[in-house]
Amino acid sequence: MASRQGAADATASAHTGRGGSHTNTRARSPAAPERGRDVSVPPERDPTAYAQTDHFRRRLRQQGRYVTLPLAGDAIRNGQLRWNTSDGWRFAVVRDGVRFVVVVGDTETPSPVLVTGWTEVADWDTAREADRWSDCDLHTIRLRSDLSEHRDRQIPGRIRPRVVTRPFEIGGHRVRTAAGEGHVECADCGARFRSKRELCELGCDSR
Ligand SMILES: [Zn+2]
Repeated sequence: MASRQGAADATASAHTGRGGSHTNTRARSPAAPERGRDVSVPPERDPTAYAQTDHFRRRLRQQGRYVTLPLAGDAIRNGQLRWNTSDGWRFAVVRDGVRFVVVVGDTETPSPVLVTGWTEVADWDTAREADRWSDCDLHTIRLRSDLSEHRDRQIPGRIRPRVVTRPFEIGGHRVRTAAGEGHVECADCGARFRSKRELCELGCDSR
C-alpha cells in the first residue's frame, strides 16, 4: 500500500490548479481549501483525457499483472467509480470473472493521470469457465492479491494451493510456485519468500 500512497502524494504535490477546465468548476466550493483534494468532482469518463504516469507504464509491461490500456479505457468508460481514502478515485470493471481496477489522479494535476492498476479474481468459477484465462493466469492473479493484501504476514497456507509455472514480477523478483509449496521462488536469484514484505526487502541478486 505504501507505493500506492506514494504515487498519490506525488500527484498531490504537482497541483497547479485547473482553473481553465470546464469540468472542474461546477462543484468547486469557495469554502474548500485551495490545495485540498476536492472529492466532490468525479473524474472524467473519457479515457483519452488521461496521461500515464511512469508507474502505470511499468505496470503495463509487468508479467502477471494483466493491466492493458484497452481494459483501463473500458474501466474508465463503463466501470464503477468509487472514492477510496488511501488511493483516491478508482474505476473498476468485471470482465470474465476478473475485476480490473484503475486508480486515477484527477483533481491535483494539470491533466488527469492513470496512477496505477491491478486485477483481482471477482468470481473464480466464472473466470475458470472463460476462455480468456488459463489456470496459470488465475492462480497468478489470486496469488498476487493474497501477497499484497497480507503484505507483512507470511502466508504459506495461501501460497500452497497455487500453481504458477510462468514467473510473474513482484517486489523486484520474478517468482513462481509449484503445487504444495508454501513459498514462492524467484526464477532469477533462487531465493524463497513467504510474504510480499520479504520480496520487497530483499534485492534480486541476479540484477
Ligand atoms: Zn530474485
